[in-house]
Amino acid sequence: MSQAFDPIIGQPGAVALLRQALAQGRIAHAWAFLGPPGVGRRLTAVAFAQALLCPTGGCGRCPACRKVQAGHHPDLHLIVPDGAALKIEQVREVERLAALAPLEGAWKVFVLDDADRMTLPAAHALLKTLEEPPPRSLLVLILANPRALPPTVLSRCQPVRFRPLGEAEAVALLAARARLGPEEARLLARQCQGQIGLGLQEDPAALSRARDEALELLGTPLTALPARIEALGRDRARVEACLRAYWFWFRDLLCLAAGGDPALVVNADRLEELRRTAEATPVEAILRALECIKAAWAACQGNVSPRLSLEVTLLALARRAA
Ligand SMILES: [Zn+2]
Repeated sequence: MSQAFDPIIGQPGAVALLRQALAQGRIAHAWAFLGPPGVGRRLTAVAFAQALLCPTGGCGRCPACRKVQAGHHPDLHLIVPDGAALKIEQVREVERLAALAPLEGAWKVFVLDDADRMTLPAAHALLKTLEEPPPRSLLVLILANPRALPPTVLSRCQPVRFRPLGEAEAVALLAARARLGPEEARLLARQCQGQIGLGLQEDPAALSRARDEALELLGTPLTALPARIEALGRDRARVEACLRAYWFWFRDLLCLAAGGDPALVVNADRLEELRRTAEATPVEAILRALECIKAAWAACQGNVSPRLSLEVTLLALARRAA
């Protein structure tokens, strides 16, 4: 059996589906790896490529396997957005390369990371390749928000779903890979909600700093907000970090306001402040805030600019607090 999928943890469904396709030789030309970031979508795409490019289906030892793992196999192409978007020029380059014969392996594999950041012209260009896939070419689209792509593109891809890891699994993995103590690992696992890749990228101190920055922004006077948002809003990752911090903050407030167990609170280091705020805030206001953050997150994953998503959220949250 292929060794390629051994490093993938917590995605038994996705791995079983890919193994089955490989075993039966029913390899679709296009795949959509759907799920939140940080749960192993890219790792799995590379493992899939390894299984396809290794002469024995992913032995883990041959030159082909080693080249895939080291990231320089000539038949594996990883495409990431150029700046904020995956552009038509990038898709045209994929189209050009896909038309050529594989150099070393049996396939040419193209992994399009953050495919939901594809521009509409790029998606239309990709549709052409999907409709008439060159022989021996395989595309893997990695995305979190399927609605960001035209349905005509997605309907031509074989879907593979990825899920966040369970808390116990995430804690064990973070403790082992990031060498954290059990308490620190638990906090980090909750903050990244089973999206372990996020937990591994961020050290706990950076995550706390991002949270503090986001909460400080909540208290910023409205007149001073535009300048702060202008600076922060250009960086999608920081806006997402803010929205995530607000989500957990208000979720904690809801937990306490509803008389929940304080041990379930994510921001355990600010428990007293949470208690005071929860007492002073009506539950309906907390629920509305959560709805508004959720909508902003969805907008941010779609085509709305991160700056605008953050601005709308902050104005709504400021009004609620007032
Ligand atoms: Zn091999």
